[in-house]
Amino acid sequence: MTTKIEFIDLKAQYADLKEVINARIQRVLDHGQYIMGPEVRELEEKLEAYTEAKHCITVSSGTEALLIALMALGVKPGDEIITTPFTFVATAEVIVLLGATPVFVDIEPDTCNIDASLIEAAITPNTKAIMPVSLYGQPADMDEINTIAARHGNIPVIEDAAQSFGASYKGKKSCNLSGIGCTSFFPSKPLGCYGDGGAIFTSDGDLAQAMREIRVHGQSKRYYHSRIGVGGRMDTLQCAIVLAKLERFDWEVNQRTKAGDRYLELFGTVKSVNPPVVRQDRVSVWGQFTIQVPNRDAVLDKLKSMGIPTAVHYPVPLNRQPAYQASCRIAGSLDNSDVVASRVVSLPMHPYIGIDTQSAIIQSVAEAI
Ligand SMILES: *Cc1c(COP(=O)(O)O)cnc(C)c1O
Repeated sequence: MTTKIEFIDLKAQYADLKEVINARIQRVLDHGQYIMGPEVRELEEKLEAYTEAKHCITVSSGTEALLIALMALGVKPGDEIITTPFTFVATAEVIVLLGATPVFVDIEPDTCNIDASLIEAAITPNTKAIMPVSLYGQPADMDEINTIAARHGNIPVIEDAAQSFGASYKGKKSCNLSGIGCTSFFPSKPLGCYGDGGAIFTSDGDLAQAMREIRVHGQSKRYYHSRIGVGGRMDTLQCAIVLAKLERFDWEVNQRTKAGDRYLELFGTVKSVNPPVVRQDRVSVWGQFTIQVPNRDAVLDKLKSMGIPTAVHYPVPLNRQPAYQASCRIAGSLDNSDVVASRVVSLPMHPYIGIDTQSAIIQSVAEAI
């Protein structure tokens, strides 16, 4: 192979968007309002238009988005939050930080998203929220989850959409599929900044107000604190970078879709590989393109020796992590999560990946297996 294969190609993206990104950064340097400058609200308005959620609140990271959402709902010690064990640690971390208990239910083995049919049995009088994750860029079965939540006294539903900004479900955008949606602008996410950033979406005005206050130390006006908050603002420079990238985002989503379709088509001929499955009513933004293979660790070693970068999202379900074993509740069998954790491999995926690179990757995977 002549050129190095990138897992995510942020350099190609910057080369393409250099002028607009640089101009946006320069404008911030010129006005000097580094905290809560005009780009913050400008970005929020554009993201409201994009998702059709009434309110967007930018925050300092995806993790902070989830934390602030739970704080706005008044989550406290003793409360239970139903979620998936097969996710990035932040999903459960914020629950435990508030003294609440993550209640883990199993996933669907093909989409790797929470199995909505198992949620109802996990609900108790202490259930304060349901937090599905739209893993790998594909929305969870949000309508089904919303229906269950409504049947049990309107339990709030928070979509952890950190990997799925730009995806859709029955024609609606991820982040606006339930009462609250949270996303991340970590550089490797589908829409990324050049540091940490995130956003919360809701169409509930009272919740939005609470979230805006919590983001700035719980202040209702300067130095008047009506509630406990955090230092959770997204800086103006990072908002400016997302604004620049947003101009090209539709094109990027289209490129990702094409790349995902190409992978799926090419993998149709490779034995012993389970390619990712996307439900008919959803469009994945391919935050990750994650296949399942037998003898995963041996396959990883071989791919490494062939110069194919890979990642494992995620090797250990959260209920098996030492930090969470004692603080979670397990609702039913988590067998699918265990099996999938031993089989997943994420492959290079970004808007600039070409058919030749993808063919080379597929060939290497076939050989490695
Ligand atoms: C990335 C991620 C987060 C956290 O986002 P940060 O911006 O890195 O804090 C939360 N949940 C999931 C599922 C993620 O992938």
